Amino acid sequence: MAMFIRVHVSPEAASQPELVKKLVEVCPVDIFAQGPQGSLQIVEENLDECTLCDLCVQACPQGAVHIVKLYDE
Ligand code: SF4
Repeated sequence: MAMFIRVHVSPEAASQPELVKKLVEVCPVDIFAQGPQGSLQIVEENLDECTLCDLCVQACPQGAVHIVKLYDE
């Protein structure tokens, strides 16, 4: 079964290098990466690996990260 999701990270959170570093560390399937300026990059090709573990949501201030389920196959 494949899960299709979209990750929304608030611009404020995405521009904080320390927070981005945390996201990179917690995601078990490498959906988050850190760009050269420390800003957030979403690794699109890994999105379908999301386990909905919620670790990214818990690692950030409330409301900063949303995982949106698009559909289940
Ligand atoms: S819910 Fe888990 S697997 Fe999905 S993006 Fe967040 S940390 Fe990664």
